[in-house]
Amino acid sequence: MNGKGDTYRPVSKDYAKKYDQIEWRRKLISLETWNTGRRKIILDDNPKQNGIKCPDCGLELYDIDRNSILTSLPPQTKIWCDGCHYTGFRVL
Ligand SMILES: [Zn+2]
Repeated sequence: MNGKGDTYRPVSKDYAKKYDQIEWRRKLISLETWNTGRRKIILDDNPKQNGIKCPDCGLELYDIDRNSILTSLPPQTKIWCDGCHYTGFRVL
């Protein structure tokens, strides 16, 4: 008995070896690490507060306009809140 019940089957050594070779499997990062990194990139890249109040928490929103112009009529740009991480669009 292995203590994990009768349905437990250990994976074969070959399968485990292949699984370990999968790049993403070995380089998983935490959600917090990802979010912290992305947040830094967004704010360091082009922080531009736009004078608009966040609808969720009331802090001033940022325009994060690089690569995020929505070609609607009229065009819109992506907005982001550093306080609560709200995202949305505003008309240009
Ligand atoms: Zn907010």
